[in-house]
Amino acid sequence: MRKLFCLPVLLPVLFHLLPATAQIHVRPLHPVQDTFYLLRPDRVFDGERMQEGGQVLVHNHIIEAVGVVKAPSGAIIMDLKGMTLLPGLIEGHSHLFLHPYNETAWNDQVLKESRAERLARATVHARRTLLAGFTTVRDLGTEGAGYDDVGLKQAIEKGVIPGPHMIVATRAIVATGSYGPKELSYDLESPVKGAAEADGRDALVKEVRTQIGKGADIIKIYADYRWGLNRKAAATFTVEELKTAVEAAGSSGRPVVVHATTAEGMRRAIQAGVATIEHGDDGTAELFAQMKEKGIALCPTLAADDAIEQYNGWKKGVDPEPDRIKKKRESFAAALASGVTICMGGDVGVYTHGDNAREMEAMVAYGMKPLDVLRSATSVNADVFRISDVVGRVKPGLLADLLVVEGNPLLNISQIRKVKWVMKEGIVYYPDVPAASLAMATGH
Ligand SMILES: [Zn+2]
Repeated sequence: MRKLFCLPVLLPVLFHLLPATAQIHVRPLHPVQDTFYLLRPDRVFDGERMQEGGQVLVHNHIIEAVGVVKAPSGAIIMDLKGMTLLPGLIEGHSHLFLHPYNETAWNDQVLKESRAERLARATVHARRTLLAGFTTVRDLGTEGAGYDDVGLKQAIEKGVIPGPHMIVATRAIVATGSYGPKELSYDLESPVKGAAEADGRDALVKEVRTQIGKGADIIKIYADYRWGLNRKAAATFTVEELKTAVEAAGSSGRPVVVHATTAEGMRRAIQAGVATIEHGDDGTAELFAQMKEKGIALCPTLAADDAIEQYNGWKKGVDPEPDRIKKKRESFAAALASGVTICMGGDVGVYTHGDNAREMEAMVAYGMKPLDVLRSATSVNADVFRISDVVGRVKPGLLADLLVVEGNPLLNISQIRKVKWVMKEGIVYYPDVPAASLAMATGH
């Protein structure tokens, strides 16, 4: 999926050779010249292992060397005492077009916010995500904002606004009647559903192909939703319908990502051969074993449940844990025990963009080892999302998407929030101007 990412314009690299006082990013007119960064942190997490010491050489937009490295003439040498260097993190489940439901309910975001407002918000969310060290997101549906994720991604790639690399789903696909704003009278047909309704073979094939044509990198489908009696979650599409989507997407090389919280929704998605299952709340040892066998990854979105229960009035740390959280802990423990591949993706947008680390903290709190959480947020997500030829590891030849944090996140996962430096494609985004307080010397 190399084509996901445009090669960067090299000119902006020169910003970082400007004096620290240069607050205004004017493109300098100098000819492009090679830029080297030699990074010397206390330790490097390469996407798989944490190693003490180690150096990383960045040449323009690429990681050139890792290990014991000699600085080329003119390299910017950064001594990162007490810090850990990691690959830029990968958010596995975001909605850049949503903001927290305790600010504005989902219904009101979809029905009452203009597309202009939603896009304006999304640009801010993209920037916050990047500055939190998340240099790539898999964005799983615009929820009423059409194909604007494709436009947002293009604006980021062209350098119009800062933001992460994006893998985009455009409009999620839902069964008719299962999804969308619920407060209207049945006499009124909402012009905005928050997703694309499609049923049966022909309509599903048409919808999948339309989305591909509009720029979708992946196809997102709801295998269940709260449309059962008494608004209980229940399965939506048949196995045949899900298989149709997998086949239609698959012939173009695109995976299908499925929302499923119920055991039945998961069972159908597994049978259809999807790539990842999102949420998996009612997952059992048996279902997770089947997922493992078929190479289907789980994206558990623990932080979303944690957030929603608090929006519903749960006082975390004071009140006893609600049943939904207890159940989530149990199913996550079953997933861990099964050995199914686990992605890091929190459903951020339900909670604040830039607070992506919340999912990593929840994974540790629910029993996953910090090393495995770090892997999940880097190399595992890159492998599952089929982008490991460009990002996800600190490895020569990959894009220079790098994060430096204070301390050691293996000892305390929350250190991942102590961001000191963020680089994407060789361009430093945080701190904003050349890292004056961090760059110790210029090599000769
Ligand atoms: Zn979601």
